[in-house]
Amino acid sequence: MSKASVRNVGVPGVEPPKQTCNDPLCPWHGGLKVRGLILEGTVVSSKAHGTVTVRRDYFYFVKKYRRYERRRTSIHAHNPPCIGAKEGDVVVIGETRPISKTVHFTVLGVVKRGGGSAGGKS
Ligand SMILES: [Zn+2]
Repeated sequence: MSKASVRNVGVPGVEPPKQTCNDPLCPWHGGLKVRGLILEGTVVSSKAHGTVTVRRDYFYFVKKYRRYERRRTSIHAHNPPCIGAKEGDVVVIGETRPISKTVHFTVLGVVKRGGGSAGGKS
């Protein structure tokens, strides 16, 4: 597959990025396959090169108290240069093969652009 073409990642509701890139680990322009979980979360850190930290807040039902408690998880995801997700962005991430020790997700697209420095807690 040529590097200029955009692949179909097989995830409904996610638009391919307008830019292209030469990243071999890009789900759109590289050879990275997406399979498994598709999640949505907020980018809280984009400091690492090519990787973002995505936080997911969710509610967990505690049977004993019949109430929900807030829980959160942090997921490291590969951030291809054509998408370039920044802190505060709401992104869709898809599960892939392990890219590094802690990265096995990749950013598929940005749902909502955050307000630049407004995102994340600092
Ligand atoms: Zn790309």
